[in-house]
Amino acid sequence: MTRIDLHTHSAVSDGTDAPAHLVEHAVAAGLSVVALTDHDTFDGLTEAEETAARLGIELLPGVEISAQVRGVSVHLLGYGCDTEDDALLDELAKIRKGRERRVPAMLAKLDALGLPLTMDDVAAQAGDSPSVGRPHVADALVARGYLASRDEAFATLLADDGPAFVPRYGVPLARGIDLIHGAGGVAIIAHPWGRVSRGVLDTKSLRRLADVHELDGIEVDHGDHDEATRQKLRALAERSGLLTTGGSDYHGAGKVGHDLGSETTAPAVWTEIERRLC
Ligand code: AMP
Ligand code: ZN
Ligand code: FE
Ligand code: FE
Repeated sequence: MTRIDLHTHSAVSDGTDAPAHLVEHAVAAGLSVVALTDHDTFDGLTEAEETAARLGIELLPGVEISAQVRGVSVHLLGYGCDTEDDALLDELAKIRKGRERRVPAMLAKLDALGLPLTMDDVAAQAGDSPSVGRPHVADALVARGYLASRDEAFATLLADDGPAFVPRYGVPLARGIDLIHGAGGVAIIAHPWGRVSRGVLDTKSLRRLADVHELDGIEVDHGDHDEATRQKLRALAERSGLLTTGGSDYHGAGKVGHDLGSETTAPAVWTEIERRLC
């Protein structure tokens, strides 16, 4: 059976597996296709591709771009993009800069809450990731013994309405889609009706993105969507000519997102993505 997981993160962003290990784990999980979709960086793709070629699993190069609609965060998956496309690389660099800039502001808020952390504490968790994020701050809080887990940090201090939350730059969604297409890639909105983006992506706006920006599809099978949500999204996709994908959003053992292969993409959709990338 072909098992296809099109949404995973490595330690190059906020996952915990090195790209090579993630690919090894994908083989062990019985996947035939895995996409690496780190946040706002292509840096893990070469290592993942080399490992995949050696182990005989198909690696779809991807990225999960931090986008926004009216200031609300939306995640956009780009598959098969030219990783040397200047316009896309410039935008990813701008997003990563925004990630770096917000860390001191989060640390100031934590300090005011009596939970001081240093930039070194965060750097120790981020390692050489070029894409620093809340999960690294969460891990630093855990390492200092303030909290028990990433989950606890996201449930309290670092939640989008939490006392230590600081927003950051994201590319306007429609421009993100255009940039992916400009780089020859396929654009899929990640977990559109998940925790955060549900409020800004109504049926009408998804249709408009499909019609005007040729959005390729939406991720339907994701842990953030319950069964009723999946059914509604599938119906919407059918009416709007959108592909529907699935992915685990794996971040490493014990982290948010599920095990590799816990959500999958249908083989026919995978074939269509491959066709669009040719
Ligand atoms: P950031 O992009 O830095 O604002 O951080 C958001 C990222 O944190 C998401 O992309 C997820 O990878 C991760 N995340 C979101 N919610 C949770 C959670 N409840 N527990 C752990 N990590 C989470
Ligand atoms: Zn993540
Ligand atoms: Fe996401
Ligand atoms: Fe993700």
